[in-house]
Amino acid sequence: MVEIKTEDEVRSMREAGRVVAQALAAARATAAVGVSLRDLDAAAAAVIREAGATPAFLDYHPAWAPSPFPGVVCASVNDAIVHGIPTDHRLADGDLVSLDCGAYLDGWCGDSAISFVVGEADPEDLSLIADTEAALARGIEAARVGNRIGDIADAIGAFARSRGRGVLADHGGHGIGRAMHEDPDVPNEGRRGRGMKLRAGLVLALEPMLIGGGTDDYRHDPDGWTLRTLDGTRAAHSEHTIAITPDGPLILTAA
Ligand code: MG
Ligand code: MG
Repeated sequence: MVEIKTEDEVRSMREAGRVVAQALAAARATAAVGVSLRDLDAAAAAVIREAGATPAFLDYHPAWAPSPFPGVVCASVNDAIVHGIPTDHRLADGDLVSLDCGAYLDGWCGDSAISFVVGEADPEDLSLIADTEAALARGIEAARVGNRIGDIADAIGAFARSRGRGVLADHGGHGIGRAMHEDPDVPNEGRRGRGMKLRAGLVLALEPMLIGGGTDDYRHDPDGWTLRTLDGTRAAHSEHTIAITPDGPLILTAA
């Protein structure tokens, strides 16, 4: 069922989104060569705890997963696309890191993801990250009253394909509110003019996950959580929680 939020509820979700933005910023500021993924997780966890919020990912256990998620952030490095576990793995020079974080504040959820490079970056990785952020911006731009879910999906996917990037067919964005995952699904590729009509008060998490080399193929790690590109190509992930308002899209997980 699709939940439409009141203006007051959107304001509360903005506060939850701000905590997530601050948690991601703290994790990113901690990232450096030799620092472990667990250290990034701890930095995000501290921000969430100090804000009086609750991590949304920790102990999250969807039906398809073999075990509850053990971290506050998903940390996906290089060929890991999403759902990476924040282990003791230490970052190396040139690693492409994607961090995804969710938190509940006063019963409302925020969900956001960023990608960046640690140390000296390969220009191709920076280009992939820029394309992923631009795909997200295209999706947000299309999130307007009167448009449809398919307009968002097409805006993200068509841009990604125009840049020669791969797109995961069966992973994408989602409605969000009192639960992290609500209806509707928001695919990262689709057809304009199709799907549910967008209304003011609809809150969505949009999240392009792009694969550098144009292949769409991925596999699950033996850990049961991490999605990796099949051929080892690097991937990037960018996500914001946004509200559709009469005045246009409002980013709830901005700093
Ligand atoms: Mg997320
Ligand atoms: Mg999400």
